[in-house]
Parts: sequence; C-alpha cells; structure tokens
Amino acid sequence: MQAKVKTSLFNKRFFRKNIWIRRVVQFFFFALIALIAVNHTLAETGQSIPFLSSASLHALCPFGGVETLYAYLTTGSFVQKIHESSFILMIISLLTALLFGPVFCGWVCPLGTVQEWFASIGRKLFKRRRYNHFIPAKIDRWLRFLRYGVLIWVLYMTATTGKLIFADVDPYFALFNFWSSEVAVGGLIVLGAILLASLFVERPWCKYACPYGAVLGLTNLVRIFSIRRTASTCRMDGACDITCPMNINVSAKSVVRDHQCISCLECTSEAHCPVAGTVTFSTARIPGKSISFAKPQIIAGEK
Ligand code: SF4
Ligand code: SF4
Repeated sequence: MQAKVKTSLFNKRFFRKNIWIRRVVQFFFFALIALIAVNHTLAETGQSIPFLSSASLHALCPFGGVETLYAYLTTGSFVQKIHESSFILMIISLLTALLFGPVFCGWVCPLGTVQEWFASIGRKLFKRRRYNHFIPAKIDRWLRFLRYGVLIWVLYMTATTGKLIFADVDPYFALFNFWSSEVAVGGLIVLGAILLASLFVERPWCKYACPYGAVLGLTNLVRIFSIRRTASTCRMDGACDITCPMNINVSAKSVVRDHQCISCLECTSEAHCPVAGTVTFSTARIPGKSISFAKPQIIAGEK
C-alpha cells in the first residue's frame, strides 16, 4: 500500500500565511534599521526619536564581528568603529545558522530585502520564468565563488591595516546613510549597481559578492534543520526550483546542502511546493522520527 500525501485547503491557506510572515519580518527589520539610522543622524543635531536607539550602523552589523575577529584574538581590542554589539550579533547569527541555516540572510538582512523588492519589479518586467536566468549557468556557477574571494580580501586588508576597509564599498552602510556625509562614494556606486542588477538577477550581491553571506553560507553544510524533499511524493513540476531566489535545483536533491541556500523557505510545501509534506524544513530522519515545521498529511490506503 502506498501512502499518498494530500494537498489540503488548510495547507493552501497556511502557505499564504507563511509567505506573509517572512515578508512582515523582513519589513520589520528594514523599518527598524532605517529608523535607527535616521535617529543616528538626528542625534548629531541634538534631536532624536524617543524610545529608539541612535546607534551607529556599524554597531548593528554582525559582519563587523567577523572583521574584527583577528584584531580581537591577537590584541584583545576591536578594529576602529566596531562595537561589542557586532560581536554579539555575529555569535547569535552564527548559532542560529548552525541550527536553521542562514536565516539572517533570508529573514533579517535589509540589503537582502531591498534586493527582493527590486526583484519583484524585474519579475514583472521579464516574466517569472525568464527573470533570474540571464547569466548562463556555467558562468553563474563560478561567479558564486567570488564572494569567498571578497571575504578573504576584506579579512586580509582589515587584519593588515587595522582599518575597516570594507566601509569604503559597503552597500549596506550606503543604503541607510546615503543622505549623510559619512557615506563613501564607493559604497553608493556598489549599491546602485546592486539595485540595477537586481532587476535581472535575484539577490546579485548575496549570490556573488557578500562576504557575510559567504560566512553564513558555509553553515549549510552542517546545519541541523535543512530543506528536505520526499522523492516519492514529488510531482517533479519544478515549482520549488522556479521560486528559489538562489536558483538552487531543489527538485534534484533529497537534502539541500547548497552553500547558497538562505533559508527563505519559499520552496517548502508551506510556500510554493504544491504537495503537502514534500519539501519540508526539518531535521534528518532518524528511523521514523524527525522534527519538522510541517507535518505531512498522510492518507493511508490510497494509491
Ligand atoms: S548574503 Fe549578505 S546581503 Fe545577502 S542577505 Fe546575507 S548578509 Fe545580507
Ligand atoms: S533552497 Fe529553498 S530555502 Fe534555500 S534558498 Fe532556495 S527557496 Fe530558499
């Protein structure tokens, strides 16, 4: 007897809810960081938004913790402009990534969110199937290793100069400081290029250049909760592949261990996969048991 997985009305409703939860979380973090950045500028003129932090953006960036790691281990101090909070945020985002994958990228990072907003325009312009496929697959595959080069360059330059070299080209800082004199021209140029490229390729910065995405992406190899596909119930319609912003061929895998997965969960059965319980966000199946955020609906006895 073959068990069959049923797509229910409940799951269709839940699918919409799940997608919207991520959109709301992304908007929340974008608005929070934007308001703090505005407050930081206001604080310099003696004004401020009540009950809101006016911290510098450097203090809110977990990548600062990675950049200062060498200085901290060798001298016990942080690189200039880096705060303890960056270190704490780095540890939190790394621990959550080891458990759930790079959720910071898929759910929190405002630069990732802005690229997705531009992607929605690109999708309308070029239609869903064509959008995100402009770069030939062979070139794209190699380009994706570029971000490890950027990471090594940033770490090396920061370690040898003791300065926050990345700040000169940092698009995240430029995004929330384009109105201030603190922003570097290089950062504005990189930001402009990313937004333009996002009309053709989803999350170009994340795929090809982000050094922090490179760090978090490595956790995909060992994370506890992963994207898992049940081949026996998969319709092979490619819905998961089409929706994946990072162009991962989910339908060809039983477990997604791709270094580019951002744990957005768009490919799951609670989002775009049309068959309940087929693409899940779960732990490994230890004889009959696994922890999953989605329970498959099994109808015993149906063929
Ligand atoms: S890859 Fe970089 S820019 Fe993209 S979401 Fe992750 S941290 Fe943000
Ligand atoms: S494999 Fe799934 S969770 Fe990972 S990036 Fe693609 S759509 Fe998101």
